[in-house]
Amino acid sequence: MIPPGGTIGIMGGGQLGRMLAIAAANLGYRTHIFAPGMSGPATEVAARWTQSAYDDAAAVAAFAAQVDVVTYEFENVDVASLPAHNCVFPPARALEVAQDRLTEKTFVEQLGGRPAPFRKVDSIEDLRAALGDLGSPAILKTRRFGYDGKGQERIEDPSRAASAWLSIGQKPCVLEGLVRFESEFSIILCRGMNGEIVRWDAVENRHRHGILDVSIAPASGLATDQAAEAGALAEHIADALDYVGVLACEFFATAEGPVFNEMAPRVHNSGHWTIEGAVTSQFENHIRAICGLPLGSTDLTGARVEMRNLLGSDVEQWPAILADRANHLHLYGKSGQRPDRKMGHVTKVFV
Ligand code: AMP
Repeated sequence: MIPPGGTIGIMGGGQLGRMLAIAAANLGYRTHIFAPGMSGPATEVAARWTQSAYDDAAAVAAFAAQVDVVTYEFENVDVASLPAHNCVFPPARALEVAQDRLTEKTFVEQLGGRPAPFRKVDSIEDLRAALGDLGSPAILKTRRFGYDGKGQERIEDPSRAASAWLSIGQKPCVLEGLVRFESEFSIILCRGMNGEIVRWDAVENRHRHGILDVSIAPASGLATDQAAEAGALAEHIADALDYVGVLACEFFATAEGPVFNEMAPRVHNSGHWTIEGAVTSQFENHIRAICGLPLGSTDLTGARVEMRNLLGSDVEQWPAILADRANHLHLYGKSGQRPDRKMGHVTKVFV
């Protein structure tokens, strides 16, 4: 157990790191951010930071030597560049599985979960064969380094195969059959060092341009009935990985049951509502888990909670958002607005 007063190392300096650092500070911990940028949302609220490339092994080792535990806020950290530190949570194996869509889907299938139908694609010939098997429309996704809908090409019919293969960069991919779903939802859980698991209510996610727009907890409709099955799978995944920390698993609610989409071995945008909408937030429970502390209650603080991302110029609505006294506004302190850049979020708890 790391007693309060210890230092938590966080790889990544974005808004997730910022909210982790704030939660850590509330529990009396210091944070040390490791990120390539000179400044960022997380560095502004942390006690220390190291500015370095993630693949600078000497800098990573020096950073790890100064902290009691290392965690990360994004899953594209190269596993090889993680510190050789026996206190890296979530475990590197979780990162390996989540970083590669093919490994991830195969792993989940082996545990009895149901991902969207998929095929491995390494060439245009593979892609044509996969389209023959799965039909179209289908979605071609790069195996690695995709996020927020990036690294994806929707293929409406087989005649578009060659252009999709070129525009995705001819990288190793998976082709996924199109899932007909009623809604998308995520299961967010936290697993402690002793194997104890707590889970928040399933949350429904609505997207805008492939980016999370609104999350609503608890999820409604088909997702309500499918939350138990999806939750059991997420717990199974966490146990199989000997996981420590917050794990987010995204699902499609379909007429045939929950279909696993993907997982993130970290705190997740669809869990931001837990800051005010749950007794213990995802950020606090993540810190508790990686420090070996008991986990807090995930009960809702109201009947319904809604979180909306503020993307790009949405952030200019802040005066109107604050005019509603029930709103909780979070701004990430980012300078430089770009369309679709996550600038903040707003949460409302309905009693
Ligand atoms: P992802 O980055 O894989 O989560 O994909 C981004 C979004 O694209 C998802 O949240 C869905 O809205 C949509 N999507 C991804 N894969 C599929 C699929 N196989 N079938 C239908 N929609 C999908």
